[in-house]
Amino acid sequence: MLAVSEVRAARTTRPGVLRSHPADLYNAGMSTMPQKSPVEQLQTPVQFLKGVGPQRAELLAKLDLHYAADVLFFFPRAYQDMSELKEIDQLEEGKLASVVGVIEEVDLRNTGPGKSLLGMLLRGGTSYLRCLWFNQPWMQQKLIEGRRLLVSGEPKREGLRWEMVHPRIEYLADDEDAPAGHILPVYSLTEGINQTQMRRIVGSAVESHAPLVEDVFPDDFLDAQHLWPIRAALPQIHQPNDEASLEQARRRFIYQELLVLQLALAIRKWRLAHQRQAPPLPTSAKIDSRITRLFPFDLTPAQRQAIDEICQDMAQPHPMNRLLQGDVGSGKTVVAMYAMLLAVAHGHQAALMAPTEILAQQHRQTLKAALAASKVRLDLLTGSLTPAERREVLDKIAAGEVDIVIGTHAVTHAVSKSGVEFKKLGLVVFDEQHKFGVRQRAALKKAGVDPHYLVMTATPIPRTVGMTLFGDLDVSTLREPPPGRQTVHTYLAGDQQRMRWWHFFRGKLDEGRQGFVIAPLVEESEAVEAANVQQTFDTLSRGELANYRLGLLHGRQTPAEKESTMQAFRAGRTQVLISTSVVEVGVDVPSATLMTIEGGERFGLAQLHQLRGRVSRGAHPGYLCVFANAASDESQARLDSFTKTSDGFELAEIDFRLRGPGDLFGTKQHGLPPLRIADLSRDIAVVEEARAAAQALIDSDPELSNPAFARLCRMVFHRYGEALDLGDVG
Ligand code: ADP
Ligand code: MG
Repeated sequence: MLAVSEVRAARTTRPGVLRSHPADLYNAGMSTMPQKSPVEQLQTPVQFLKGVGPQRAELLAKLDLHYAADVLFFFPRAYQDMSELKEIDQLEEGKLASVVGVIEEVDLRNTGPGKSLLGMLLRGGTSYLRCLWFNQPWMQQKLIEGRRLLVSGEPKREGLRWEMVHPRIEYLADDEDAPAGHILPVYSLTEGINQTQMRRIVGSAVESHAPLVEDVFPDDFLDAQHLWPIRAALPQIHQPNDEASLEQARRRFIYQELLVLQLALAIRKWRLAHQRQAPPLPTSAKIDSRITRLFPFDLTPAQRQAIDEICQDMAQPHPMNRLLQGDVGSGKTVVAMYAMLLAVAHGHQAALMAPTEILAQQHRQTLKAALAASKVRLDLLTGSLTPAERREVLDKIAAGEVDIVIGTHAVTHAVSKSGVEFKKLGLVVFDEQHKFGVRQRAALKKAGVDPHYLVMTATPIPRTVGMTLFGDLDVSTLREPPPGRQTVHTYLAGDQQRMRWWHFFRGKLDEGRQGFVIAPLVEESEAVEAANVQQTFDTLSRGELANYRLGLLHGRQTPAEKESTMQAFRAGRTQVLISTSVVEVGVDVPSATLMTIEGGERFGLAQLHQLRGRVSRGAHPGYLCVFANAASDESQARLDSFTKTSDGFELAEIDFRLRGPGDLFGTKQHGLPPLRIADLSRDIAVVEEARAAAQALIDSDPELSNPAFARLCRMVFHRYGEALDLGDVG
């Protein structure tokens, strides 16, 4: 067991130089115990930390806290600024505050199926504060009448009384002074450990073990980047002296986290560009004219520039790794077609991956039409193939009897695991890649093929996301749309405008236009969503759209059903397509100029923008009406900005600011471990700083082999080696 005295000794001496301490003389057994290195001490099981013991150690394990070091880096999830502690009658409308009081009364009411309202009356002196929780009945058991409580939240005046909705609560011992005058950490908890206990545990771990932590940055780097040394930052992130110290401490850890990530990306990028081989596939005037002749329009300057960038990359003997980003309808497909045909011109194969079956089918049609007069051979590899058909396609791919393969991500991902064999793969294009990340790209590489890569986004992505999730790629951007893009008149409406809208909608249908109706987004399951779309369909076919030909599209249908529904719509046999948001992805039907979106508040801005892009493609202006009941200010702000601007790049930034990064880093989607402290929507400046610093380091030392950075380098490989396919540190 690690004796407290030993920990103290470590604290008062420089790390690595453990001197014996006078207290050791009084500590039986101590003198026979071998002294532990700082690293070993940081690996002390939590059980032996002050105030923990075996029982609490089990609870801490649930929070993934196993060793002393884990506790040191268990950063607060929030802070309470106790300088704002107030009496109830000093509260100010909308101004965050904390109040101490005694629970006077608790009541729980059912307010509808699955709905409840929990109320609590808190008495402070002679005044009362009412606290409310909607649909959180389980909170009731936490609220014990007569107990003293610290409540923090946003006060609202309701008649004569102050109210807080969903405040943060924390129990105080009867004799405990309300913590005042400093900033308190708020940790994530687990059943059995309360906030006060957690603060004590972390506090004493920081006191005993923070001085043992070695910095990953050399001193001159800390100075140059204006970063606090880790031993100064650790205590301050847990128990800040003031706002300014907290800022400095946070900056230190945010910077470190982002730099480590940017270094991993920079190393990956450097290796891809220098160590992997790919066939050089240069373009020429002859190839260029043979390809562009196939397009029914002139390329825009933006498309031309993107193509030039791609051609430069593909001419190299190393794989291209390029992201093509552009707004909805900006014309990414022809750029991809150019690249694929360039590969084919050199006798190589190309693969185009789409996220959905519908989109894969559509790409096939576009390509088929453009290549009708050429000898280029196309094939489709999607989930709708029978095993025998799939086998046949795979055989043809292996024999080199197919030039361009259009597939869905899911299928090719499954196939790539068992090793899809191309005779001579020169290029892979990932279309509408938003939810797919680094991992997918790496997966194909493992199959032993080294083609060129082109990744196309579904929609403009926020700058910092691009620099991170696609940070190992070069970027080409299509900013201006192709000529003839229609404006889409966008309305935000409530129920009272329904009649007028449908009247207008029918009028346009009568003029020969087509339209979409997007049913509200349902997240429970595909089955619920399908039922929901069906219901919207039934209601409309009996009501507002009774005399029109309607189609129905949702995720529960078979690929064949979906395809025939789309065919009917494209051919104009159905006038209105009632659908889930599946149509958002790339569907292109020029005569569709009308769209109704139901439950608009449930969609993200990027999704709404994608949907809007569906009705801007024809010869006539588009009309979009979003019916929404904004439940929050955030959702209202989102919908307002949607009607105000149609610039996808601007909307992407707004959405990101409003909603935060959410689960961008969900391992399923991107395969990158989650960021623990940095926030890509908030820490934009630090992302840019870290990226520039990482680039500079890797430019001069591609494998980060300078011994001064050995510790940092280990951290990079430890954290991202697997996710970014970097292998282990040498
Ligand atoms: P996205 O970038 O959303 O994938 P697409 O590649 O599907 O957009 O292109 C959208 C539409 O614009 C298509 O109908 C396409 O034929 C058309 N288009 C693309 N480039 C041009 C161009 N240079 N001139 C005219 N129309 C174009
Ligand atoms: Mg597209």
